[in-house]
Amino acid sequence: MLKFLKWLIEGRPHVTYEGYHCGCCGGWEDEEFSIPTYKSYGKWADTWGLCSKCIESGKEENQMDEKRAKEILGDNINSPDGGLYSLKEYIHWNVGDKKAILDGHFTADELEATAWWMRKGSSLVKKENNRGI
Ligand SMILES: [Zn+2]
Repeated sequence: MLKFLKWLIEGRPHVTYEGYHCGCCGGWEDEEFSIPTYKSYGKWADTWGLCSKCIESGKEENQMDEKRAKEILGDNINSPDGGLYSLKEYIHWNVGDKKAILDGHFTADELEATAWWMRKGSSLVKKENNRGI
């Protein structure tokens, strides 16, 4: 609060930096920006951020959607209502169940797709059936 009042009295000064470090890839982003001096914790602390490349690749990596979940789960979605069943790597999940039984070797993508499907996917199948497809 005092810092803020001091800043007003001083005529709202800003500090300008020529860019910032990316906390993800460690790269330097040449993008000038200014912040009010009362928000500044010194040059080192102020010049960290996320570069546009890392923000974009983060979105792609983490995004699970219907298309991707169906690609990954494939034949495991094999009941008319969208339940998950497989005997290769054992999966057993009935639509509406809070828990699935899994036994086998699964990649992170397969686990993500399974979780996504349990939360959202089966409701998509129900909607399709309601339309008579
Ligand atoms: Zn980066």
